[in-house]
Amino acid sequence: MKKDERLFWVFKIMLDIKKQNILELDRDELISWLDDQGVESYRADQILKWLYTRQTDLFEQMTNLSKDMRARLSDHFTIDRLTIDHIATSKDGTRKYVFQLKDGKRIESVLIPERDHYTLCLSSQVGCAQGCGFCLTAKMGMQRNLSMAEIVSQVRDIKNDIKDPKSLTNLVFMGMGEPLANYRNLVAAIQIITDGEFGFAFAGRRVTVSTAGLASRLADLGRDTRANLAVSLNAADNDTRSRLMPINRKYPIAKLLEACRHFPLRGGRRITIEYVLLKDVNDSADDAHRLAKLLRPIKSKINLIPFNPHPGCAYQRPSEDAILRFQDILIAKNYTVMIRRSKGRDISAACGQLAAHGLRP
Ligand code: SAH
Repeated sequence: MKKDERLFWVFKIMLDIKKQNILELDRDELISWLDDQGVESYRADQILKWLYTRQTDLFEQMTNLSKDMRARLSDHFTIDRLTIDHIATSKDGTRKYVFQLKDGKRIESVLIPERDHYTLCLSSQVGCAQGCGFCLTAKMGMQRNLSMAEIVSQVRDIKNDIKDPKSLTNLVFMGMGEPLANYRNLVAAIQIITDGEFGFAFAGRRVTVSTAGLASRLADLGRDTRANLAVSLNAADNDTRSRLMPINRKYPIAKLLEACRHFPLRGGRRITIEYVLLKDVNDSADDAHRLAKLLRPIKSKINLIPFNPHPGCAYQRPSEDAILRFQDILIAKNYTVMIRRSKGRDISAACGQLAAHGLRP
């Protein structure tokens, strides 16, 4: 490289460092920036459409904006992608994306192939504050919330990375972190994800937010988004649940289920109740009967998740017989019960195995 050329790049990088990632702005913030520039607000939706629907990486490509407007945008902003640290691929086709964030921290998103579509499991925080005893992410402790852009970029970048972006139809917030503990950024991200005008146009019923049980937030979620709700109940009595999930001391089962009962369910939907099956802890016939009784007032379907082991965790996965017995008891009580055969266990991509420890397979 010639000296002039080197200088050019050094200056360009220095200028870019000062610029803001435009994806960090929500629609209102973009409108207000445009307003300061004396530009009509309808331009915001045009820009957002380039960024999300069309996945543009360069302001120069935004051809329905004037040259001057494009230049002003690139003077102020960058359009960033997350850095892919590596992608691990499982025998079953599951792909775990490990992203490195600007501050060096890592998060994971898991792309799960289903029969005719993909489901993407998203992270909402680096680490987690909930401290659930069976979950590896909990061992990281709470490091920080993800920004709206860091949440949305998991979808944007993975859509951009796969051959048939349209086949990514379902999103679940079941990766690292407690989504309802990062409420503002979660809702802002879901707005872009579900917006049909300029966003990714995911149907609300194909987006699921899973919570450890932050009961006080459920009504907000029902009001602010059209997403589905999944609740990690994981035990059918308060003693067991408090031992497994510290949040139960703040919002015990009755309080949590009361909030579930009031959650607004759109057209024929049901709440997904998740239940991690742990050998000799919560997998007895009595537990199944108690669970059936507890859930009677709730329009729900049950998702049983046999425990996925990780090093240093004393819990065990129940035998196949115990898993099926638990399911049968609930089916006999007329519940819809799925056993979640978590995918990607060989690459530590299954439920409760995400820790972004950076170990390459
Ligand atoms: N914080 C949210 C979302 C992340 S956890 C929540 O608690 O719902 C996603 C699901 O994985 C939860 O239902 C959780 O109970 C389950 N899970 C966590 N660790 C697990 C493990 N080791 N094996 C199986 N499921 C696990």
